[in-house]
Amino acid sequence: MKKRDFRSDTVTHPTPEMLQAAVNAQFGDDVYGDDPTVNHLEAVAARMLGKEAAIFVPSGTFGNQLCILTHTLRGDEIILGRQCHIVVHEAGAASVIAGVQFNFFDDSRDYPDYKAIEPLIRFDDIHFPRTGLICVENARSNGKVVDLTTLRGIKAMAEKKAIPVHMDGARIFNAAAALKCDVKEIADCADSVMFCLSKGLCAPIGSMVVGTQAFIDKARKNRKIMGGAMRQAGIIAAPGLVAIEKMTQRLTEDHENAAYLAERLEVFESIAVIDEFRDINMVFCTIEGDFEAFELVDFLAGKDILINPPEAGIWRFVTHYWVGKPQIDALVDGIREFFSE
Ligand SMILES: *Cc1c(COP(=O)(O)O)cnc(C)c1O
Repeated sequence: MKKRDFRSDTVTHPTPEMLQAAVNAQFGDDVYGDDPTVNHLEAVAARMLGKEAAIFVPSGTFGNQLCILTHTLRGDEIILGRQCHIVVHEAGAASVIAGVQFNFFDDSRDYPDYKAIEPLIRFDDIHFPRTGLICVENARSNGKVVDLTTLRGIKAMAEKKAIPVHMDGARIFNAAAALKCDVKEIADCADSVMFCLSKGLCAPIGSMVVGTQAFIDKARKNRKIMGGAMRQAGIIAAPGLVAIEKMTQRLTEDHENAAYLAERLEVFESIAVIDEFRDINMVFCTIEGDFEAFELVDFLAGKDILINPPEAGIWRFVTHYWVGKPQIDALVDGIREFFSE
């Protein structure tokens, strides 16, 4: 039986159409700029996000770190949310690669307005690091989406101070689906944007970075330094094209399925869905009861249903292309069975 995997949208396998595209792809050496499939993917990404240029990178972490390296100087300080992926989930890469330090704004609940971020910018003093970059995240890893007004406020303030803004848009198309806007409107709130092809968009590998032509030219050199310049990358760019052209159009379905899952979980007296974190394809909840987390995880794994253990007491279930209503029903039935035993 096929596994029903709710751990993340990173677990998505390529679709049959993606595999076919990989088989039929044309190749060249991308370090020479010769891979037509990569060139096409970069052109489509830049156009869709409304930027001058794009570059294909191996992972989302790579893309974020490439942007930090390209925007900043060693010893700079960058301003970002305390809970964001770059701070919590990238293994300290910004200190290793770009050699920058962090200054945090509080993103534990709603995203702050620019007025809370502006005072974090350093002025010129012999003691202070230089503020080199502001990073924002949308959609956020906690399942929330930041509205356009907040993002535009941050961008306008940063522009006045001549500080670039990078957006970790790993799930920017989920954000666009949730805000019911064109993804360009979100991307317009940042100088550089990274987004993942390999999450809800189902591509097996790869992320994109978009920005001005000058920024992408500089990033291309830095990608080489970081060891991320690939050769016949058309083999993975071809599925990436299907991801960006087709899979971006169906994310609302994942969001609706997450709402369906939340609705079904709310029926359990012991489960409390956290409504605040329900903007995209994720359901966060607490589960009360006299059991150890691993017992539920193992019980469901025995039924070919995969979930992650809770983080700080909060469980997260993620919907995607491969887990629709029947798989959600199986998960809910599995949880019910666990509690009745
Ligand atoms: C997944 C993710 C990334 C990058 O992930 P990789 O696993 O390195 O591809 C970056 N930011 C956010 C918010 C993410 O969710």
